[in-house]
Amino acid sequence: TTDSVPAKFQGFASSNKNTWNKPKLVSYDRKQINPHDVVLENEVCGLCYSDIHTLQSNWGEYNRDDLVVGHEIVGKVIAVGDKVTEFKIGQRVGIGAASSACRECNRCKSDNEQYCAKAASTYNAPDVRSNNYVTQGGYSSHSIADEQFVFPIPDDLPSAYAAPLMCAGITVFSPLLRNLGSDAKGKTVGIIGIGGLGHLALQLAKALGAKVVAFSRTSSKKDQALKLGADEFIATNEEKDWSSKYHDTFDFILNCASGVDGLNLQDYLSVLKVDKKFISVGLPPATEQFGVSPFTFLKHGASFGSSLLGSKVEVLEMLKLAAKHNVKPWIEEVPLSEENCSKALNRCHDGDVRYRFVFTEFDKAFAK
Ligand code: NDP
Ligand code: ZN
Repeated sequence: TTDSVPAKFQGFASSNKNTWNKPKLVSYDRKQINPHDVVLENEVCGLCYSDIHTLQSNWGEYNRDDLVVGHEIVGKVIAVGDKVTEFKIGQRVGIGAASSACRECNRCKSDNEQYCAKAASTYNAPDVRSNNYVTQGGYSSHSIADEQFVFPIPDDLPSAYAAPLMCAGITVFSPLLRNLGSDAKGKTVGIIGIGGLGHLALQLAKALGAKVVAFSRTSSKKDQALKLGADEFIATNEEKDWSSKYHDTFDFILNCASGVDGLNLQDYLSVLKVDKKFISVGLPPATEQFGVSPFTFLKHGASFGSSLLGSKVEVLEMLKLAAKHNVKPWIEEVPLSEENCSKALNRCHDGDVRYRFVFTEFDKAFAK
């Protein structure tokens, strides 16, 4: 039953983009609990650059003036809706960047539920199945998501290490798997932007068997990238001739950068083999563009695309692969508070994170 779920949840909220890095502790009415919903008491939450893009209104306006972000959530199930079959009270589970979808369309029924036209993001999204309640993220005491978007966490994976896999991990794993298959031996993969997503992409591409090359703007992350599994490292701002040196090398390039001003698409397309893809999971502010035309791709027969999160089936496969190959995020744990939220947001914004902040100690942050 769901009677025991508090009517109000608590979270760290911003009211508008001018206070994006100063979240304040607030309480707010929770979303209704639908038949397939799972209710979590949150334990930890990672900080994704998407949180910053959203708080800064880089992708659009706030849909509420007490907006709580965070979509790398791990917590304990405290209640489930009538139709939930997969989860039990007390179980440790995760939620990523999407929290519900229609369950009925072709995409929902073919393991592409993240692409459902009616999907609701985990925060700042009006949920059509809950009276257009604007969803609230995981810098909060509790979360509610449809069981399709709730993932079981393996017992031997600590919550703080599981959290970044819920968004960063699956977002890079899905396009790696779809483009390389589960055995990438003999293939060469480039990963651009060694941050939260990129450092997991290096590890997961390696776990799939690929030869992995890290692209970073400077050489400051070189030693760490090699430890994370990169076979080679290119500092694009420092090695001016990298694109001629690596001409016709890559079977796949995955862009994980949070902006495009440091990227020259032509250079990256020229290092792809013929008929290969450059996929961007990295998302810049909506006003920044690569500026492409058919001529951009012509000389390499190249394709350009994007990828959104991953399906639940892919999350489960990622968790298995991660366990087998000891893929783990490199994290800095941050006890959740107004001051620490602010510090971590500022540091991530300034690129001062190696490689993921994870908010912890939720039991101390929220009064019962
Ligand atoms: P991080 O800040 O942890 O890492 C981003 C990395 O991008 C940096 O470490 C840096 O790498 C590089 N970078 C930053 N600014 C620029 C720039 N102006 N030009 C070129 N490179 C730059 O961010 P996250 O890993 O958390 O997120 C990465 C991106 O992925 C964000 O845009 C986020 O919104 C997006 N995202 C997309 C999802 C999807 O479904 N498609 C899901 C989740 C996130 P280096 O120092 O190595 O150059
Ligand atoms: Zn994210």
